[in-house]
Amino acid sequence: MKTAIIPATNQQFTIGKIVCLARNYAEHARELGNETPTAPVLFMKPASSVIGDGDTVLIPSYSQECHYEVELAVLIGTQARNVSVESAMAHVAGYGVAIDMTLRDVQNQMKAKGLPWEIAKGFDTACPLSDFVPAASVADPHALNLKLAVNGEGRQNGTSSDMINRIPQIIAYISGIFTLNPGDVILTGTPAGVGQVRAGDVMTAEIASVGRLAIPVA
Ligand code: MG
Repeated sequence: MKTAIIPATNQQFTIGKIVCLARNYAEHARELGNETPTAPVLFMKPASSVIGDGDTVLIPSYSQECHYEVELAVLIGTQARNVSVESAMAHVAGYGVAIDMTLRDVQNQMKAKGLPWEIAKGFDTACPLSDFVPAASVADPHALNLKLAVNGEGRQNGTSSDMINRIPQIIAYISGIFTLNPGDVILTGTPAGVGQVRAGDVMTAEIASVGRLAIPVA
């Protein structure tokens, strides 16, 4: 059982489903040659893909191109089914840092064939996730600086103010399709600057006032 922890309030949640947004930052959609979507594009990672700070990402043998994507993670604290944009934020328990590890070569092959992406996005270790800070401690989740470095070299440096779909809209939209339960996590998309990591690299991801991850790759 994977656990999401909010140390400041001593709360623990068993992680359920992880619902992720694709192409939620226009500049990142462009860098991969994708159109900017109007409705949110969703996919999921299983809870079994979660690892914690200091754990190692293991690149599967069926990929030659594993990418990092730093993302703001939203932890759901109370059940949300068909909620309105106005009431959506009341269901957020906390915020954390995630890296949406992506086998880009495999994903591109799947996209070209019109097949699902799970094996590119949901493999074991594909979801490094930090501890969470309480929602109340984050004044504005749309004014956060997201950074990722590889071996100390800056690669991504963006702001959550550039999200196309914002968190209340995202929660309302998802909750009309999948009931969100306590312990479910939403990954809100990545800013530009994604790229490859190789065995031996160390990723550091940071969202100021939210959290930090140091994740080796093997
Ligand atoms: Mg992503």
